[in-house]
Amino acid sequence: MMRKPAANPTTIKDLIKNQFIRSTLLLVIVLEVITFLSFAILIISVESQTATQLRNRIEANLKLNAMSNANYVTEKSNDITVLTQMIQRQFVDFFILFDQLPIEPNASLLMEHANGAFYSDGDDTSSSLYYAKTGALREGALEKALKSRYMDPYFKLAVQDYPILDQIYFNAWDGMTRIYPSIDELPILLGSDMKISNYNFYYLADDLHNPSRDIVWTDVYLDPAGQGWMISCIAPVYDGDFLQGVVGLDITIENLIKDLINVETTLNSAVVLTNESGLIIAMNEEAEALLTISELKEHAYKEVVTETITKSDDFMIDQHGDDAFKEDIQALIDNGNDTANLSMKDKTFYVTSNVIGNTDWRLIVFSDQDEILKPVHDIERTINKVFGLIIIFMVVLNLIILRMITDQSQSLAQAVSTPLNRLKENIQKFGNGRMAVQAFDNTGIEEIDVLNFEFYLMSQMLNERTKKLIQSEIQNREQHIQMENYLKEALTDELTGLMNRRGIEDMLDDALSSDVDLPQLTIIIIDIDHFKSVNDQFGHLIGDEVLIAFTELIQANLKEEMTAARWGGEEFMIICKNGDINEVADYAEALRKTIETHHFVTNEVITASFGVATVQDVNDGKRPLIQRADQALYKAKSNGRNCVCKG
Ligand code: GH3
Ligand code: MG
Ligand code: MG
Repeated sequence: MMRKPAANPTTIKDLIKNQFIRSTLLLVIVLEVITFLSFAILIISVESQTATQLRNRIEANLKLNAMSNANYVTEKSNDITVLTQMIQRQFVDFFILFDQLPIEPNASLLMEHANGAFYSDGDDTSSSLYYAKTGALREGALEKALKSRYMDPYFKLAVQDYPILDQIYFNAWDGMTRIYPSIDELPILLGSDMKISNYNFYYLADDLHNPSRDIVWTDVYLDPAGQGWMISCIAPVYDGDFLQGVVGLDITIENLIKDLINVETTLNSAVVLTNESGLIIAMNEEAEALLTISELKEHAYKEVVTETITKSDDFMIDQHGDDAFKEDIQALIDNGNDTANLSMKDKTFYVTSNVIGNTDWRLIVFSDQDEILKPVHDIERTINKVFGLIIIFMVVLNLIILRMITDQSQSLAQAVSTPLNRLKENIQKFGNGRMAVQAFDNTGIEEIDVLNFEFYLMSQMLNERTKKLIQSEIQNREQHIQMENYLKEALTDELTGLMNRRGIEDMLDDALSSDVDLPQLTIIIIDIDHFKSVNDQFGHLIGDEVLIAFTELIQANLKEEMTAARWGGEEFMIICKNGDINEVADYAEALRKTIETHHFVTNEVITASFGVATVQDVNDGKRPLIQRADQALYKAKSNGRNCVCKG
């Protein structure tokens, strides 16, 4: 059985388009995703390996760099240590040879300052001298003051060859100080009666603090001689077991930073030089910013510095950062040479610590991890950009492919659906009875072209068949009408147009063959009296005219249930569907009178005789009925005509 189309059927066009797009685009997207993921995995693994390697390499470089920086500082500090030793030896020799040394005849004498101290200002080639009031009054003080000028060339040479040095001095136990380069009016800076053993740059070298009589580096202190914050490399000068004094080579913190701390750091690292307890000796600007503390360099002297002033606890490196930082940095300092990753101010630093040889110092370098990883981040950024571009490219490519697929599928769908639609229209036209179906041009699609052509042939064939069917139908109808006409003619009297004798007999057969127990049927036979004489008198044609007029008269008086017929010649029959013979006889009588009084073309009275008979038995056929009516007619003729008799 043929099914009706679905409620919302999809069109071929949509079907092709959707299927085409779905399958092709899905394939394209799957391929792209696979490609993209493979690419991403490859890049990410290469990137992470590169990042790790790069990071390791950079950290190794930083470590090496820190070591070489530390070596540089070690070398420089060693130079100063060696120089200090040399000067120390010169002074030892000086005291051994003291008595043999002549006093220069033109040596200027010491001047007494207003505060009671003695002094002499030096010049470019000679040092300045200070003598504390008490010391200067001792016997032989003037001789020591004057003879110590022999040391000036050594001082001068040392300062010339080592620009890092700020000053060289000798502090004698009794308050004599010789300083190069010269400083005018030393008593202003050092006061009237300087007590030398109050100062670290003296007492750190004494017997108590330095029994082995080694070279000693001081911590950072504020220079009483007005040169600001500095450290000193000091050495005791013994004459036998007597401590004659201490030589010292000063390096200002400014110079220390300039010459040692501002080492080459490619990553703008913070560099800090500390002692072994973590007190900052010097640091670069980056370290100042990191630890939020300002380095002490110059100093505005307002009063005489009478004792050692050192850096405050703020300069302890473990006073900065959170607890973890404090702990880690202390561990790093304790370990000496070590590296660690430390966090400070939301940043992570790769930190190296190196011990400076022959000292207890640590050179600590903080390198920002972000800076270290900058090349890695640069690579990541580049890769991300490339990724972004690839994604954009893929999106654009997808859109182009989508557009191409849509166009392609549309033209494909068009190519299939257009001829199919025409075929559909043709079929609908054909179905609606519009026979004229034309085959459209070939589409180039084999199935559709075959379908089109076959449908065309089929419609042509059906057209032919339909035409033939219609023609034969028309023929059949015409034949039927002809047959009916023949039949009618056969049962009709030609002259009067009434039913003829054959018609009467068929009618009677039909009426009597019904299933009714007793058919209500009565017949009247009418015979025109002496008709022969009409013919004889007026001619046969007038006779025909009278027969026609007689027929019209009967027809005009016929009742509903009655049918009139020509029985033959000048005899007629009326068939009444009425079983009451008397009623019918009365009707016959009335008709007889009507005839009798009718005016015919002959101008003579024409009468007729009537024989009436009714069906008496169900088994009565038409013959007995007609016979009885005939007999009644005969009786009427016998009775003198123009009367009605019942049979
Ligand atoms: P009766 O009173 O005994 O019936 O006498 P009648 O002359 O009518 O009867 P009869 O049988 O002797 O004659 C009938 C006549 O009717 C004879 C015939 O010429 C005439 N007739 C029969 N058919 C036709 C017809 O079609 N046209 C004409 N004009 N005359 C006809
Ligand atoms: Mg007759
Ligand atoms: Mg007659």
